[in-house]
Amino acid sequence: ISWSEERGWHDAVVKPYGPLSLDPAAAVLHYGQEIFEGLKAYRWADGSVWTFRPEANAERLQRSARRLALPELPEADFLAAIEHLVRIDADWVPSAPETSLYLRPFMIASEAFLGVRGAHEAEFHVIASPAGAYFAGGVRPVSIWLSQDWSRAGRGGLGAAKTGGNYAASLLPQAEAYEQGCQQVLFLDAEERTYVEELGGMNVFFVYADGRVVTPALGTILEGITRSSVIRLAEERGHVVEERRFSIDEWRAGVESGDIVEAFACGTAAVITPIGRLKARDFEIGAPDSDPGALTMSLRDELTGIQYGRLPDHHGWMRRLA
Ligand code: PMP
Repeated sequence: ISWSEERGWHDAVVKPYGPLSLDPAAAVLHYGQEIFEGLKAYRWADGSVWTFRPEANAERLQRSARRLALPELPEADFLAAIEHLVRIDADWVPSAPETSLYLRPFMIASEAFLGVRGAHEAEFHVIASPAGAYFAGGVRPVSIWLSQDWSRAGRGGLGAAKTGGNYAASLLPQAEAYEQGCQQVLFLDAEERTYVEELGGMNVFFVYADGRVVTPALGTILEGITRSSVIRLAEERGHVVEERRFSIDEWRAGVESGDIVEAFACGTAAVITPIGRLKARDFEIGAPDSDPGALTMSLRDELTGIQYGRLPDHHGWMRRLA
């Protein structure tokens, strides 16, 4: 779908996969005016194809658009784009356990203009690709590397938007995480370098022995759709969920005293993943082979159960596509 100031959104088409044509002066290539989403189409046992809370992705894309001075795409157009594409590509939705068709909607400022200003022309695209199970052969806890040198986002910055620039900021820290034998990087707040924010591509949760669940408050982090779903499911089970500042020292002390009994990360790709170990320059928490926590695994079962149609969808989260 294309957008211009004069015509608004127009010309929605489904085309065979292929290269985009852009002017070398297209704003996106110079100023990073790009936003995106990530969601999945799931095949249920009866062959039908469903997606999870796409309205939430549509809404987040609108928030990202506002922050990046891009045009807002109406929710109906976002949903229609996903539906049309998945209907045409329905045979590409795999059926093996925990597989899916990954959907990547994105918007770019396409006008040829070398100057910093809001978009005057834009394009919205959706591409799709079959995705294997994130954990082939059982869920394994992740090891994460604490980035003490770099930040992802500061107050008033782009942190809450899903935009390429945030991921550009995490490329180097993510490479350092791999060098340290970890799969993901953990970011702290940019101002005090004290409070836990999120991983390179996932939100984080901590479970106390008394049943309280803590997750970093919104502001500079991405408002994960899995995050808000987990909060809802945990609250329905009677857990008190605190969205607040959570320092790295509180984590260390909590694990040492036995007050914090589980840590997990969550996002569309891996759903819910136990955090086995946090590695920092001069300390470590946990162990790579530690057992996944009970609440972590049971929330994971519940969420994947809803997504794959094994459990009833009491929240109206699932939307049928094909
Ligand atoms: N934080 C970041 C930085 C991410 O890239 C993602 C993945 N989109 C998440 C959190 C989790 O978001 P969601 O649950 O919507 O996938």
